[in-house]
Amino acid sequence: MLNQAVHLPLSPRILPDTAATSDESMGLDTEFRRYFLQRMLPFTRVGLGIWIVLALTACVFDGLIAPEAFAERAIPLRVFTMLVPLSAALVATFVIRHRIWLPYLVASAAGIAGFSAVAVGAVAARTGAIDVYGSAIFSTLCIYLVLGLTLRQSIAVAWPVFFAYLGVSSVLSFPFQAAAYGVLFLGLTNIIGSVSSFLIERSGRESFDNKQELRRLERTDGLTGLFSRRAFDQHLRQIWKQAEREDSRVAVVVADIDHFKLYNDCYGHRMGDGCIRAVADVVATSVNRPLDMVARYGGEEFVIVLYDPTPGFLESFSRGLCHKIIDLSIEHKASETKPVVSLSIGAAITEASGPVKADQLIRQADDALYEAKNQGRSQAIVYRSEWGQQTTANLASVLV
Ligand code: GH3
Ligand code: MG
Ligand code: MG
Repeated sequence: MLNQAVHLPLSPRILPDTAATSDESMGLDTEFRRYFLQRMLPFTRVGLGIWIVLALTACVFDGLIAPEAFAERAIPLRVFTMLVPLSAALVATFVIRHRIWLPYLVASAAGIAGFSAVAVGAVAARTGAIDVYGSAIFSTLCIYLVLGLTLRQSIAVAWPVFFAYLGVSSVLSFPFQAAAYGVLFLGLTNIIGSVSSFLIERSGRESFDNKQELRRLERTDGLTGLFSRRAFDQHLRQIWKQAEREDSRVAVVVADIDHFKLYNDCYGHRMGDGCIRAVADVVATSVNRPLDMVARYGGEEFVIVLYDPTPGFLESFSRGLCHKIIDLSIEHKASETKPVVSLSIGAAITEASGPVKADQLIRQADDALYEAKNQGRSQAIVYRSEWGQQTTANLASVLV
């Protein structure tokens, strides 16, 4: 029983360590692509910006120093098939809302600009200007290194540009020497680009995995495998919003092992840890609705959130949990309450859209727990709103 795996919706213990199903893998992959996109976005913008500046400068060079026959065809080509798509992609990085589409847009713009570089090379060959295959090399490097594309995306864009160069150089019968050097350098650039893009993506994946692991650790309690207090607080905030929208109730239950210090003193810390785990297993299996959650709130304290229970259910749930722990029959010789380990429970419930907010609800559950301890432990008490108006001195009579 002590280390029995618990199958509890939303409990970290049901989440496999490795992505097991294809749905989960797809979810993770989408999450990675989002992360990678965000991480690379500044580089994408800078890369597109540099490419635009270079294309503009090339236009100026064309106008100033290239043969007129070349310039009058190359400049419009550069403007419409390089500057326009690249500028559109740059603007899109700032305005597009569903960013998951951004890489496809950037890849399309980069592809058009890459083919444009090849086309300018073809114009150069036809008009007797020097062959500027450097432009195709620069485009290829940009596609692989600075546009924030994944390896697959950049290969899908850059290799066709290479084959276009190969095709154009043979169709237009480039001088053999120029074509051979062009193919050699562009081919090598593609190989180096592919390797670099692979390394960039791999480092992105490692950093993503580390972040995921850190997040999992932050959300999980190491001893029990339950959610951590931090995860609980996040979950409570989330379902509170949902409960407000749906006009539902939210209940918080705080459970604390009785005389646990004495248990540790009597049986030792290791046995104490085992006892916490055994109690955690039972507390975890006590809820099974998708929006309910169990977390370890502190040392020997657990907290449960129930989404839209009736007050009657909350009462029987809390009482039932006390009984389940007693039924575990974990010996506790030193307890002043029972010869076995027992729980005291405080609970509170409210309409989420009412005046009581999440923090206050937890405080009310804590007050109820305090009263359960005062009343002799091993029992569950649900907070009643009239306590708020009572002084500590006459609270006892209210509780009777
Ligand atoms: P009460 O019935 O009023 O709750 O008394 P208690 O002794 O349970 O409460 P108290 O707060 O005095 O003591 C809690 C003890 O829980 C003290 C601490 O050493 C022990 N504890 C907290 N975290 C762990 C843990 O992870 N493992 C073990 N073994 N003990 C823990
Ligand atoms: Mg205790
Ligand atoms: Mg305690």
